[in-house]
Amino acid sequence: MTLPTDLGSTPDIARRGIMLVLSSPSGAGKSTIARNLLEFDPAFQLSVSVTTRKRRTSEIDGIHYRFVDKQEFDLLRAGDGLLEWAEVHGNFYGTPRAPAERAMLEGRDMLFDIDYQGALQLQEKAKDDVVSIFILPPSMEELKNRLTRRAEDSAETIAIRLKNAKVEIERWRDYDYVVVNDDLDRAFQAVRAIIAAERLKRDRRPGLEAFTKVLLGDEAG
Ligand code: 5GP
Repeated sequence: MTLPTDLGSTPDIARRGIMLVLSSPSGAGKSTIARNLLEFDPAFQLSVSVTTRKRRTSEIDGIHYRFVDKQEFDLLRAGDGLLEWAEVHGNFYGTPRAPAERAMLEGRDMLFDIDYQGALQLQEKAKDDVVSIFILPPSMEELKNRLTRRAEDSAETIAIRLKNAKVEIERWRDYDYVVVNDDLDRAFQAVRAIIAAERLKRDRRPGLEAFTKVLLGDEAG
């Protein structure tokens, strides 16, 4: 099944960009959903976070994260270079301010793969532009299986993440939408449906003023 994301929209009606926040406990499938979204919906640009976490072998510096040491992270934070930041599982993560602000000024959509602490900070800063989705695993058992299958983290790291998952899941109420990822395809289609509807919201489309003026003018003529 394909679902066009501009469903019912018209490209020449100007709209503001969406700040799409995707959060979930590690292993709920959020990264796969984010990756699919970036592939199928080219309007989205990923906000590449900075982190003090060690790079996994599958990760590329500058693509998945910008890997920095604590000193550089602190400098960025002190210089107001981060739109939000948080400590997650013992490492520091932050959203670089400049690319996100540029995207919003230009009306582009941006995807933020951040935790609930970051989601709250963005919601406070840009309430009207943020759309937040929380991805839940179908069960704790499945979450554990997925974390173990990834096999890129140590047993100790997996144990920390599982313990933290319980705290993270409690935060589902802070989000606009909640999607249970029991089936990746279905969860992905749900995320795309949310985006399609959010793009059609009246308040997000200043171009409707001009469009309807022309529409009514055409009718009168
Ligand atoms: P991981 O180490 O598995 O890549 O990410 C761990 C957690 O940190 C995930 O929940 C991820 O969404 C979150 N995270 C990644 N980047 C940021 C960020 O810039 N800010 C915040 N607040 N959380 C982030």
